[in-house]
Amino acid sequence: MKPIRQSIEFDKKFLDKDALKVVNTIHKAGFEVYLVGGCVRDLLLGLEPKDFDIATNAKPEQVHKLFKRSRLIGRRFRLVHVMFSARKFIEVATFRSGQVQTAKSGVIVRDNCYGNLEDDVVRRDFNINALYYDIHKHEVIDYVGGLKDLEAREIHIIGEAKLRFSEDPVRMIRAVRFGEKLGAELSDEVKNCILDQASLLSNISPARLYEECIKLFHNEYGFEVYEQLEKYGLLKHLFKQTHKNDFIKKALLNTATRIKQNKPVTPVFLFAVFLWQAQNERFVMIKKKQRSFYLAMTQASEEVIINQIKQVSLPKWLTARIKDIWIMQSKLEKMHPKKVDDLLQNPRFRMAYDFLLLRSQSINPELKDVAKFWTKAQQ
Ligand code: ATP
Ligand code: MG
Repeated sequence: MKPIRQSIEFDKKFLDKDALKVVNTIHKAGFEVYLVGGCVRDLLLGLEPKDFDIATNAKPEQVHKLFKRSRLIGRRFRLVHVMFSARKFIEVATFRSGQVQTAKSGVIVRDNCYGNLEDDVVRRDFNINALYYDIHKHEVIDYVGGLKDLEAREIHIIGEAKLRFSEDPVRMIRAVRFGEKLGAELSDEVKNCILDQASLLSNISPARLYEECIKLFHNEYGFEVYEQLEKYGLLKHLFKQTHKNDFIKKALLNTATRIKQNKPVTPVFLFAVFLWQAQNERFVMIKKKQRSFYLAMTQASEEVIINQIKQVSLPKWLTARIKDIWIMQSKLEKMHPKKVDDLLQNPRFRMAYDFLLLRSQSINPELKDVAKFWTKAQQ
């Protein structure tokens, strides 16, 4: 394979200083080293990269030795995290080949086979994600036509879609996300294959899908991603109890606006919205047999969450907050004069109020006056 090499000099101010330090140190030690993946893609499109990934021919132990504040992580494949603060690290991956060794049972026993740059290219998911940037030569290295795809805003998978999606079904939701993020078209092969194989997503561990779901919806185009996931039959393998309504739409658009304004967002809110309708339906069923409102509420919440975490796991702290938001809805709706102050003091008030407000603007217009009451009360 002969790569295309395109000279391009990115403005230093768009490059992460710490990532540059890491690249320089590895380079000085005599290894081959590049910026790779999403950061190169985003820089070429004039977008601000979320993170900077580095690929090198140095082995993880060799990289680890170069940085005092670094650690080796990962069991399935080893990576090095170079730490810059409690929250910030730069990830360095050694070139590896996509070859996996499986046991007779089909279980992956090893996919830590190191390789060279060309091997590393073909184990990546899409052409647009397989661009390498040499910061010393100011050169993008493109083995698979990623530059051309970026130009045309097209998403092609590396290798055969059927094989690559079954190797790792998470690639299907990544394709959909990148499509919306970049305003790019999925290739016909990718589209058809997702439509065919969407159900493979149910083989992915719920813990991994939690991380992926946050990436799907905590951005400026979460609603569009939602609609595409539905269209491709992927959504039901993440949220089988969730069906589109105006509340979900409003919440996703609201999240997008908050992100544009640099306001904080929390997955608590999103999951509480996604599961609200199912919780309500469960509540109505249980309430027929259960006289206590409170017990019926808690049981309904519990059941809906148990069903959810079979697909996408949610940490305990998060489900506790979801339940708080839900239980506070009826308290807010009652507007009991003696409880107003207590509710305003409740640390969860803000989120429960936002939730109520969005309901009143979508599926529960009858709550407009209640929402007004709480808007005033907190002023
Ligand atoms: P973003 O950071 O905007 O979500 P990204 O492309 O950087 O997008 P990461 O998850 O940070 O996504 O992954 C970095 C790179 O690693 C990708 O660009 C791709 O080359 C490779 N990669 C990530 N996940 C997979 C996967 N499931 N299969 C193959 N390659 C992958
Ligand atoms: Mg990235």
